Amino acid sequence: MISRKIFERIEFLRLENVTKRYGENFAVRNLNLEIKGGEVLILIGKSGSGKTTALRMMNRLVEPDSGSISINGVDISKFDPIMLRRNIGYVIQNIGLLPHLRVSGNIGLIPKLEGWKDERIREAVRDLLNFVSLPPQIFMDRYPHELSGGQQQRVGLARAMIMNPPLFLMDEPFGALDSLLRAQLQDEFYRIKRELGRTIVFVTHDINEAFRLGDRIAIIDNAELVQVGTPQELIFSPANELVAEIVDSKRKYRHIDALKVKDLAQPLDKRYILDPGVSAASALDYMSAEGLEIALVFKSPESAGYVRLTDVVKAASSGKSLEEALKPLPLFSPETSLLEALIRLKAEGESMGLVLEGDKPENILFSDRILQNLV
Ligand code: ADP
Ligand code: MG
Repeated sequence: MISRKIFERIEFLRLENVTKRYGENFAVRNLNLEIKGGEVLILIGKSGSGKTTALRMMNRLVEPDSGSISINGVDISKFDPIMLRRNIGYVIQNIGLLPHLRVSGNIGLIPKLEGWKDERIREAVRDLLNFVSLPPQIFMDRYPHELSGGQQQRVGLARAMIMNPPLFLMDEPFGALDSLLRAQLQDEFYRIKRELGRTIVFVTHDINEAFRLGDRIAIIDNAELVQVGTPQELIFSPANELVAEIVDSKRKYRHIDALKVKDLAQPLDKRYILDPGVSAASALDYMSAEGLEIALVFKSPESAGYVRLTDVVKAASSGKSLEEALKPLPLFSPETSLLEALIRLKAEGESMGLVLEGDKPENILFSDRILQNLV
C-alpha cells in the first residue's frame, strides 16, 4: 500500500467524551481533551490510570467504546488505521527494533514498504541518524544488540520520524533509561519540537519530565481527566488535593523566588572548554580522547557557545570550521533569579547555561538540577 499524507499539519486533535472499558472497568472514562497544533501535551498519572489506553486510541491501536476522536475536524475512524499510523510517529519504551535487521533496515522499513528508492532511503536514514546524534558511519550497519539502551531509543525515535509525521505519540519513551541518558534524550526530544514544530502527546509518570518538556500537562487519575493546564496553572491553581500533591505545590516552587542562579550552579570543569582557535579536526580528537559529547567554546561572552560531538564530526569531515558547529549558550549572572533562569532555558530549549563571574565562565547551571532541587 502506498499511503498518502492524510494531514499536512495538525490544527488540533480533539477527544470528545471518549470512553473505553475492559469488562466492568473503565480504562478511560468520558475524556474531553483538545491538543493544539505545535504543542507538547503531557499525559501524567499513576500506573493503571489510563494513559496508554488514551494514547493508543489516538492512532487506533485501541478503538473507543464511545465518543469520538478527530484530527483537524475529521473523525479518525474515517481513516484506514494503517494509513493513519503511517502519518503518526509512535515511540514507546521498549521500542521493539527488529533484531535481524541492521539500524538502517529498521529505520528504513516503512519507506521500503512504501516503495521508496534505496538511495532515497539511505539518505534519509543518514540524515536522521545525524539528527539523533548517532554518527551514521558508525551506527548505520550495526544490529540492535550492538547498541546501548539509549542508542536503541534514539534509533526508535529516528524510525518514528522517517515518514515525517506531523504528530507524535510517545509513551514513556525514556522511562527505562538512567538519568544522564534521559537528560540527553530529553534534549533531543526538545530539538524535534523546536526545529520541526511537531505536535506531540507524551505520556510520563515523572512530574519533572512533564515540567521540563510539556507546554501543557493533563493529569489523569482513575480513568478520568482531573485537570489540564500549563505548569504554572497547575502549581498555582491546582484543581484539587491530588493535583496539588502531584505538582507538589506546597513544598515546591514556594521558595524558588528566593533562590538565585549561584545557589544551584556547579563549578565548570575546565576539561569541557575548547580553545577558541582550535580546528574542527583537533576539537574532534580532543573530544574523542576525553569522551566528551558536548564541549564549550568560550572567547568572550558575546561568542560563547557549545558544540556537540556529532556536529564536530560533520564539520571535521566536510572541512568546515568549528564555528559552523557552534550553538549559542544561554548566559546567566550569579544573581539572576532561578525562576527566570528556568523560564529562559525552557524557552530556548536548552538544558544548560553558563554562569559568568564578570566576563569569565566559572559555573554551569543545569535545568535538571533546578527541578531536582524542588522535589
Ligand atoms: P497506564 O498507561 O496509565 O498505566 P493503561 O491505559 O495501560 O494505564 O491501563 C488502564 C487500565 O485498563 C488498567 O486498569 C489496565 O489494567 C486496564 N487495561 C489496559 N489494557 C487492557 C486490556 N487489553 N485488557 C484488559 N484490561 C486492560
Ligand atoms: Mg502505560
